[in-house]
Amino acid sequence: MRPVIAALPDTLISQIAAGEVVERPASVVKEVLENAIDAGAQAIAIRLEEGGCQRISIQDDGFGIEHQQLHLAVLRHATSKIKSLSDLESVASLGFRGEALASIASVSRLSITTRTPEDDHAWQIQVNGGQTVGDVSPSSGNVGTTIDVQDLYFNTPARRKFLKSASTELGHCLDVVRRIALSRPDIGFAIWHNGKVIERWPSQSIAERVDAILGEEFKNHRIPIEVLQGQLSVRGFISQPTASRARTDMQFTYINGRYVRDKVIQHAIRAAYQDVLHGDRQPM
Ligand code: ADP
Ligand code: MG
Repeated sequence: MRPVIAALPDTLISQIAAGEVVERPASVVKEVLENAIDAGAQAIAIRLEEGGCQRISIQDDGFGIEHQQLHLAVLRHATSKIKSLSDLESVASLGFRGEALASIASVSRLSITTRTPEDDHAWQIQVNGGQTVGDVSPSSGNVGTTIDVQDLYFNTPARRKFLKSASTELGHCLDVVRRIALSRPDIGFAIWHNGKVIERWPSQSIAERVDAILGEEFKNHRIPIEVLQGQLSVRGFISQPTASRARTDMQFTYINGRYVRDKVIQHAIRAAYQDVLHGDRQPM
């Protein structure tokens, strides 16, 4: 018998998309942090429970979401960041696909609490497994947005099985936070795990942030670089060849503020060090 073609319901589309967007708790942390940064946050608090498997709550002091628009934030392909193909060519925000919150909402219990500077109180929306629960309702909270993600994959047990131990997932979450925090030293970050503060970086200079995150060895061997050539500018810190490593795990590269791990860039770094570093050693 010939199979019948039918359009999938929206929630199922999001759940399928979630397979790509939300690989593990760390992917939620990445998406929600990027949204906070796109909203102009100056301070971001990250609270994790059981490596993020049980709960990820991220609070920012950005410009918030108008309560009339709150239901759109969790809708697929709804974004405030681009409107046309030409916007896509010059996108300056970290996000633009309008898929992250819808995907996260489809595989968790998500609540968004948000307040704009014009609001006299906060508003909240709750979505469980892609289904909105009740109406957008008044809530309490400061200006900014708190995204609370509980019970990741509660409705997709097959994916839940692939979650590793809480400490492994926590490690991945912290990797994501470090990468992002290195790119924005002007933003303050604080991280809690199971109710305990585990990291706190105030708004600081790039050198201070790099030292706080990369530690003593890099601090003692770093060289600032700043090169301008035509439209291209390269800046940051590189290690003296005396402080090399076996792996590339201490290399953090960014293009226009976005963390990028790329073969061409890695090759350029290797090439730059080829006269001063043995072939099996990696600079920091
Ligand atoms: P994208 O970031 O690609 O636009 P998302 O699904 O991540 O898509 O978010 C959808 C929309 O929700 C964003 O375009 C933005 O308008 C709004 N939004 C999400 N998080 C925040 C936040 N922390 N502060 C303000 N607005 C937000
Ligand atoms: Mg986003």
